Order: sequence, then structure tokens, then C-alpha cells
Amino acid sequence: MKLATITYKNTQCVARIEDEAAYIQSVGHYIDVLEFLDNKKIAFETFSELSLLQKIDTKEICFLAPIPRPRSNVMCLGLNYLEHVQENTKLMGREISPPEFPIVFTKAPSAVNSPFGDIELDSSITKKLDWEVELGVIIGKGGKGIKSKDAMQHVFGYTVLNDVTARDLQRQHKQFFIGKSLDGACPMGPVIVSADELKDPHNLRITSRVNGETQQDSNTQHMIFNIPQIIEILSRSRTLEVGDVIATGTPSGVGAAQDPARFLMPGDILESEIESIGVLRNKIISC
Ligand code: MG
Repeated sequence: MKLATITYKNTQCVARIEDEAAYIQSVGHYIDVLEFLDNKKIAFETFSELSLLQKIDTKEICFLAPIPRPRSNVMCLGLNYLEHVQENTKLMGREISPPEFPIVFTKAPSAVNSPFGDIELDSSITKKLDWEVELGVIIGKGGKGIKSKDAMQHVFGYTVLNDVTARDLQRQHKQFFIGKSLDGACPMGPVIVSADELKDPHNLRITSRVNGETQQDSNTQHMIFNIPQIIEILSRSRTLEVGDVIATGTPSGVGAAQDPARFLMPGDILESEIESIGVLRNKIISC
């Protein structure tokens, strides 16, 4: 099942997306996929039966992030693809080893942006806005001390996100939080594909493009720490909650590592795509 949070005739609600159509409840609705997940059992049954839902054309709707405002920070893996570790070695001018333990930082919930929303670029704040396409994992069942063998039972589904990063702020402040949490710096969506529909999240082509030119092109099979390992480690010390979002790291091809380095400029169109899930398309605008 593909679920989205949309607006239709000025009302925000959850929609099931099938081909070119969106299906919504004609009476009552969940305001976003987070509320859907809080009522998962009944909600899943309701949305399983297309004949009980109202069919509308996707041209008539506007997509929001499936979870427009997560309850907690988005948890992000750093250096989780070997080729991205290697390009960081080149970028930093010193040997960077693959991490022995996952590197985890977070993005503020306020950074979440719509899948087709504009990304504001204030050149007085950053001159080095960069892209990082990532597979997002949505937790459907919370828990603490989850073992990797049980971890996939805690996954509701998967989405596309871009961990948009101000490289200058990321470096300047040492800790990543400020450089990762600019308003609008986490476009997400357009749908969450439920885990029962997307059988193998570890074999998906993952790409990003700027103005149609491919920047990143890899496969989620190249993650250093896979999803069960990530969930085991994250839940060891903190209770994972329903609706938590995990960004699983980006492959090589970020702008900072290119020669010469390339960063986003006003007018650029950033596309982030993962096979079987969809594509984000965000315009960079000056503000
Ligand atoms: Mg990242």
C-alpha cells in the first residue's frame, strides 16, 4: 500500500495512491500518516478496501510530506555507503575509515518539507547547500532493545528523503545539527510504501539529479549497516516510537566531493528518486 498525506479541496487527509488515482475516506479522515499509524489496525483495514473509498485524480491534490511533522528528530546515518566514505577521504584530504559503529545525527522535525515544495536558500546563511538522497525508514511499531532478527517487524514502510545539508555550517559548528536542520531541508515522500508491498529495501536503485543531470546513482544494497542493524543499535538506548523516521545514509556523488565542488543555486531543480517508491522534485529559491 502506498500512503500519502495530501490536501484536497483545502482539506488535509491521508490518501492511498494507486497508479494515477488517489483514494480517500469520504467520511472522516486521518490528518496525516502519523495519525494513520496511531490507529494502524483499523486504518489499514479501511484503506485496504478501495470500493469503500472515494476516488480522485492525483492532478486535483497537493502532496505534503507523509509525516509533515515527526514527533522526534529525524535520525540520520552518516557515512553509511562505502563510496561516500571514499569520496569523503578525498574531500577531507585524509584517510576516512568506514565507521566501526554507525554515525548518527539528527535533523529537526521543522526541517521536513513537501515532496514538491520549494527549498529556500538564504545566501547570507549558507553558500554551500548540498544534496543527499536517502532511503527513509518509517517505524510502525515502537520498542526498545529490538534485536536485528526482529527489527523488520517494527518497520511500517519506506519513503524517499533528501538530507539537504549546509556544508559550511556543518563544518563550522562541528556538530551537524545546525547544518542539517535548515527550514525545508528535509523533503520527504511523495508516499510511504508499506513493508508488505516493498519486499526488499536492500536492493533499490537510488539516484539524485540537479537540473536533470545525474549526481548520485547507487543501490541500497551498498549500505554498510543494513536496516535491521540500524534498528538494533538505535533501539538499544532509546525507545523507538511509532512514526519515527530513520534516514539510512547517502551514496557518493554529493556536491561537496565533486571537482570542482558544486552546490545548489536558486533556480536549480533537485530530484531525488528511489526505485519502487517515487521521486521528489524540489526547486531551490532565494529568500
Ligand atoms: Mg545524510
